[in-house]
Amino acid sequence: MELNLQTTSKITWCPGCPNSQILVAFRKVVTDLVSENKLKAENIVCAVGIGCHGKISDYLNLNTFTALHGRPIPVMSGIKMANPDLCVIGFSGDGDSFSEGIEHLIHAARRNSDIKLLIHDNQVFALTTGQATALSPKGFKGKSTPGGKIEEPLNPLSIVLTAGATFVARTYAGDIVGTEKIMKAAIAHKGFAFVDIIQPCITFFDTRDYFKDKLYWLAEGNPRNDLNEALNLVTNDDGRVPLGIFYDVSKETFEEGLGNIQIQISKSK
Ligand code: SF4
Repeated sequence: MELNLQTTSKITWCPGCPNSQILVAFRKVVTDLVSENKLKAENIVCAVGIGCHGKISDYLNLNTFTALHGRPIPVMSGIKMANPDLCVIGFSGDGDSFSEGIEHLIHAARRNSDIKLLIHDNQVFALTTGQATALSPKGFKGKSTPGGKIEEPLNPLSIVLTAGATFVARTYAGDIVGTEKIMKAAIAHKGFAFVDIIQPCITFFDTRDYFKDKLYWLAEGNPRNDLNEALNLVTNDDGRVPLGIFYDVSKETFEEGLGNIQIQISKSK
């Protein structure tokens, strides 16, 4: 039977919002992986937090779970621990995972939980109509910072790299084909996969012009197993913004470690 990932829910994102491009890319990725027998649709579980990104759960005919604000990650970790055969994919926003739930993010990366996290990074709390997040740039003027944001933003990629994530990548929502490639690589990765998707909020923080001439894709075959090189790329202050896979290494996952301990305990009885 042909896979139909559409639902009857009306799309309520602003017309032209790049969230729709993320949805298109993700549906294509799942359709491809299922048709290639690499995944079963019934074995996919998606979790979302609170924010504009979270509406994606209404538009996907898959198993989905809507968590509290900033809390998709503990839900994902619990699902994966309970049934390691499931493919657990989370959608979250920069406000959701870097302002609200950053502690979950850091510890999931540190544990190398075998879950995939796709961040809709629009550098603003968009659902609540334009407040600064931890990723909004210094000087950002929004409803919570009318005089301009005072603090420097966090660097999302350096945080997850130093916390221990084993797959770290960045893409741009407007590049649907590029985003599909990154999503497929993240899903194929065994361990904690983090994808920062630059997703301008065209209503409350339209950064499309800002990014237009800054984005570039890393060359094919760039080294992906060198943490220092990855950190250099994501912290480089040369005015350009690289896209691609910065880091992709193999390491025991939390669920594998848990399984090994359970075997040892059962043998010792
Ligand atoms: Fe998209 Fe921004 Fe509208 Fe939310 S407020 S749907 S992020 S354009």
